[in-house]
Amino acid sequence: MAGEGRNKILILGGTGEARRLADMLAARKDLEVVSSLAGRTSDPELPAGEVRTGGFGGADGLAAYLSELRPVAVVDATHPYAELMSRNARRACAALGIPRLRYDRAPWVRQAEDNWTEVRDIEAAMADAAARGRRIFVAVGRVPAALFEVYPDHWFLVRSVERLGDMPENVRCIAGKGPFRLADELELLDGHRIDVIVSKASGGGSVFAKIEAARAMKLPVVLLRRPDPPPGPLVHRADEAVAWIDQLLGERRPERNT
Ligand code: NAP
Repeated sequence: MAGEGRNKILILGGTGEARRLADMLAARKDLEVVSSLAGRTSDPELPAGEVRTGGFGGADGLAAYLSELRPVAVVDATHPYAELMSRNARRACAALGIPRLRYDRAPWVRQAEDNWTEVRDIEAAMADAAARGRRIFVAVGRVPAALFEVYPDHWFLVRSVERLGDMPENVRCIAGKGPFRLADELELLDGHRIDVIVSKASGGGSVFAKIEAARAMKLPVVLLRRPDPPPGPLVHRADEAVAWIDQLLGERRPERNT
C-alpha cells in the first residue's frame, strides 16, 4: 500500500519510548508514521518511518504543520519534563479537533528504604543536596555553571548526554546516555564517593539504575518534581498506545453495508 490512503500518525518524540512506538507502528501497512524530533539527534538509532527535525514555531506553527500533514492522531511521547512541547501539542490538537494521546513513561514508585526528597526546581535541589553531603552527583541534563559557584566547598560529578563545557574547578563533567546498568551506576557512585544524588523524577526504566543504586547504597536522592501530565487521554505503555490508536481507527471506519 503506498502512502495514499494510509492513516498518518504524528509522534512527538525525543525519547526511547517514542522511538520504540514508531518502530512498532511503522511496521504496519495501514499506518504512515511521522516522528518529530526537536533537533538533530546524536542517537544512531532513528525511529522507523518518516522523521522530521526542529521546532514548529509554537502552538500556531504546530497547528499549521498539522493542517498540512492531516494526521488521524498525534501521540505526544516527549520526555515528561518537555512541558512546553506537550502544552503546544494540546493547544494545536484542540484547535483542529485532532485526537491526541499522551504517552508518558510510568512514574517511579517510592519504596520503604528510599530516601527521596522532592523539590520544585534545580536551585532548590542544589541547596537541599548541599545540606545533605559534600560530594554530589547531578544527573538532570544542563545545569548553569553559576549554580555550582554557590557551593565552592562541595564537589560535583555532572552527567549529561553531551558533556557540558566551562565549569568551575569543583565540577567534573562526564557524558552519558541511558539506558544505564545497575553495576555501572554502583561503581560510579562508589568510585567517586558520592554522598547524595540530584535527579529528575523521569520515571521509566532506562535511567532508573542510579535510583536503584542509591537505594542499595542508602544514599539520599533529591528529585526535581515531575510536571503533571497534560489533561486528556494518558497511557504509560506502548501496547496501550497501540490499543488507543486501534480503537480510534475502528471508530473512524465506515460501517460496511450488508
Ligand atoms: P520543551 O521545553 O518542551 O520544548 C522546547 C521547544 O523545542 C518546543 O517549544 C518546540 O519548539 C521544540 N520541541 C520540543 N520537542 C519537540 C519535538 N519532539 N519535535 C519538534 N519540536 C520539538 O522541550 P525540552 O525539554 O527542551 O526537550 C526537547 C526534546 O528533548 C523533547 O523532544 C524531549 O522529548 C527530549 N528530551 C527532553 C528531556 C528533558 O529532560 N527535558 C530529556 C530527554 C529528551 P517550537 O515551539 O518551535 O515548536
